[in-house]
Amino acid sequence: MARITFLGAAGVVSGSRHLLESGGSRVLFDCGLFQGEKRLRQRNWEPLGVPPASVDAVVLTHAHIDHSGWLPRLVREGFRGPIHATPATIDLLDLLLYDSAKCQAEDAAYANRKGYAAHRPALPLYEERDVAAALERVSPVERGRWFQPAGGVRCRFHDAGHMLGSGFAEVEVAAGDRSVRILFSGDVGRYDAPLYHDPAPPPACDYLVCESTYGDRDHSPDRPLDELEGVVNEAVARGGMMLVAAFAVGRAQQLVYLLRTLMAAGRIPELPVWIDSPMAVEATAIFRRHAAEHDFSEARMAGVAEAAVSPFVRMAKTAAESKAINHHEGPGIVIASSGMMNGGRILHHLARRLPDPNTTVIVAGFQAKGTRGRKLLDRADSLRIHGRDIPVRAAVRQIDAFSGHADRAELGRWLAGMPAPRTTFLVHGEPPAARGMADFLRSTRGWTCELPTIGQVFDLPAHPTS
Ligand SMILES: [Zn+2]
Repeated sequence: MARITFLGAAGVVSGSRHLLESGGSRVLFDCGLFQGEKRLRQRNWEPLGVPPASVDAVVLTHAHIDHSGWLPRLVREGFRGPIHATPATIDLLDLLLYDSAKCQAEDAAYANRKGYAAHRPALPLYEERDVAAALERVSPVERGRWFQPAGGVRCRFHDAGHMLGSGFAEVEVAAGDRSVRILFSGDVGRYDAPLYHDPAPPPACDYLVCESTYGDRDHSPDRPLDELEGVVNEAVARGGMMLVAAFAVGRAQQLVYLLRTLMAAGRIPELPVWIDSPMAVEATAIFRRHAAEHDFSEARMAGVAEAAVSPFVRMAKTAAESKAINHHEGPGIVIASSGMMNGGRILHHLARRLPDPNTTVIVAGFQAKGTRGRKLLDRADSLRIHGRDIPVRAAVRQIDAFSGHADRAELGRWLAGMPAPRTTFLVHGEPPAARGMADFLRSTRGWTCELPTIGQVFDLPAHPTS
């Protein structure tokens, strides 16, 4: 009988790792890093739960680190199978995993310098050579094409509309004279999202493993373009700089695309835009390479679509170019990572400009508990940056429409045509969000839902057991 073990992203929004076992085959769906609070990050040091060498294959729904960032560690600990993902996911993986290794090295060096390492000396979770070893194991597969990650298990990706390359995984597991169908949603994107297609309709399944990041709320009904227009014009009136903490891969490209669209339409003034992230520059090149994947339906003006993925804005690659932005008094827009303000160049911009009441900080994505981004949204008076408490006098605005995740209503829309699965497992949500989604599916559809915890195992019988 097939069975599933939730090894991560159960009751939390990071560390996505779901192990499917059947007839001696073991396939791991996603292999993410735990992020956010320290108690979660410490989980990255714990073993997977089964010996990595015993896992036949990994199926990766998309390149975000909370779904892919533990792969180098998995390989370091003995995994020797293929990692199946779409070609665009694989291109992004190269960028994201090397960046992650760099962050691990920086964290370890910082901990050693400050002397707060739990292990002495503090070691990185993995290194560049582990990333190289993981990337040797990738196996590209186009969406819609069936592949066999392990004996008795076949699988194909469908467009999840969540980020470049993203795909939810449809799985069939042989079970005697019939099969069990399981759907792993990965992260589900939004409808009418800039640059991305709508999520493809999900096929029927016996068991559904569904994300629930925003399972207890609905995003603002405003479209990203309208919301951005309002926030930018308000910030321009305030006169200072706009700091946008944005993930370098995906969000930065969406922002540039929408800003160009608004400027071309005369809805916001022509403003200088800096992309202060070497990684965003590289990601933009990958977006260009996979331009056929994009949905440019929002582009009403000729040339805007092209501008969206071309480096027309001022790119700050070097630290000196980044520091030069400090001399600009605004209005202007700085897009820098990291998206949750845990690190990256956004920090030195925040340290310099948060005390200035003319500054506007734009928060444009999910902010996990314990992150600086969440603290700003919760109206913190000050933020600790590089060992100093920086007073917050800047205006903080959230652009909801930029979330890469479907909200409750959109998940409902995505699942609308699907016959009730036997069980729906709600993962990748903080407990109130996962509960909210479960209540919604139970009350509106009568679906049977489970909210797994980390380590929990469920049998997936082919026939109803009752
Ligand atoms: Zn994601």
